[in-house]
Amino acid sequence: MKCICIGRNYAGHARELGNPLPTQPVVFLKPSTACLAPGQPFRIPAFAPDVHYECELVYRVGCRATQVSEAEAWNVLDGVGLGLDFTARTLQEQLKQKGLPWEISKAFDGSAVVSEFLPLGTFPDHGHLRYEFRQNGTLRQVGETHDLIFPVPYLVAFVSRYFTLEPGDVLFTGTPEGVGPVAPTDELTAQLEGHDLLRVHVAG
Ligand code: MG
Repeated sequence: MKCICIGRNYAGHARELGNPLPTQPVVFLKPSTACLAPGQPFRIPAFAPDVHYECELVYRVGCRATQVSEAEAWNVLDGVGLGLDFTARTLQEQLKQKGLPWEISKAFDGSAVVSEFLPLGTFPDHGHLRYEFRQNGTLRQVGETHDLIFPVPYLVAFVSRYFTLEPGDVLFTGTPEGVGPVAPTDELTAQLEGHDLLRVHVAG
């Protein structure tokens, strides 16, 4: 299983990090070893004291597929949930400045949190989903899927040109503005249309 992640898919977040708006999706991968086991605390790695949360809408792949058209995209997905794309921000900035790949800042152990998934049919219109992320009860991020620069069917078609999708793969669709650092003992929670899907404790 792999995490296929999209960067800079909300204009507000691209602006807050000083990045130009992309003309095609920015894509990176996290391996299965990046996934935090359910119920486990997130441990801030020693190499990166400034880990940022990035809450994202996540879709799960239901079948093996390649070269998927936008019209077929929803047929290869079987669930929707929320995730956290933990990012070692200073390290990422250093890598970006050198033009190097981001992986060690994005795909380290525990850097991918994925909630339980709800059936796609839970929601009648995936073009208008709202999700909220809170840090210790304080609202930090609000995502609205109509703000996505590249909508989900476009993303599925784009990434499946390059990567075969397999059952259990997950697609992180990008984070809205409001990212920030996590601290030891933080309680991180997120809701999708009122469903409490995600809760992560940051180890002290
Ligand atoms: Mg992200």
